[in-house]
Amino acid sequence: MVKENIARLQGEIYRTAIQAGRNPADIRIIAVTKNVPVDRIIPALGEGVTDLGENRVQELLDKQPGLDPGLHWHMIGHLQTNKVKSIIGKICLIHSLDSWRLAVEIDGRSREAGIVSEVLVQVNVAGEETKYGLEPLEVADFIREGMSLKGLSIKGLMTIAPYTGDPGEVRPVFAKLRGLFNDIRNKMPEVPLTHLSMGMTNDFLVAVEEGATLLRIGTGIFGGR
Ligand SMILES: *Cc1c(COP(=O)(O)O)cnc(C)c1O
Repeated sequence: MVKENIARLQGEIYRTAIQAGRNPADIRIIAVTKNVPVDRIIPALGEGVTDLGENRVQELLDKQPGLDPGLHWHMIGHLQTNKVKSIIGKICLIHSLDSWRLAVEIDGRSREAGIVSEVLVQVNVAGEETKYGLEPLEVADFIREGMSLKGLSIKGLMTIAPYTGDPGEVRPVFAKLRGLFNDIRNKMPEVPLTHLSMGMTNDFLVAVEEGATLLRIGTGIFGGR
């Protein structure tokens, strides 16, 4: 099941990227493993999946020792400042930087550990009350100020689109994030933004069309949670 799902997703992503005039090699699947036990994750790894995403620190820490140490782990969910200490150095990318306080904590803990942590700024593009993330208008200044924090390196932007089955509704959200990404790249070439993390099981093909480089896919790989 998992194998077939990944093969199908890879085919769809490849075709959609080509149609959109993009290089499929610029797009990576992050297999979202929240609520998926280790024995169900292993079959996915033979299929070219090298990146795993979790939204809870404890779950990530519990699973990590049981899996190949060469895997890349992504923290994709809201991160509480008191949990930062336990994951610094154990993940390749934090997608959910959503406050200055969290930035300062990641910076301090990373410098203590002698590393630089790579992060994405989460943007609440649709302005939903229930979602974390900066408002689009705050992002450029936040990134400019973030350059003073030497323990972290801002690599791009992330968003979670509103939950809807209608691609017509999510497309403007993704397009807006890409517009913001391009604006910041033009205005601040000294901050090398490379990643746009957007697109989940319901909307990843629209995200590919709109420029996503990291797709966070759970249900489409492992089935319903
Ligand atoms: C759960 C989750 C996903 C994956 O969602 P699916 O719809 O199962 O693909 C992606 N991003 C975040 C932040 C999540 O929490």
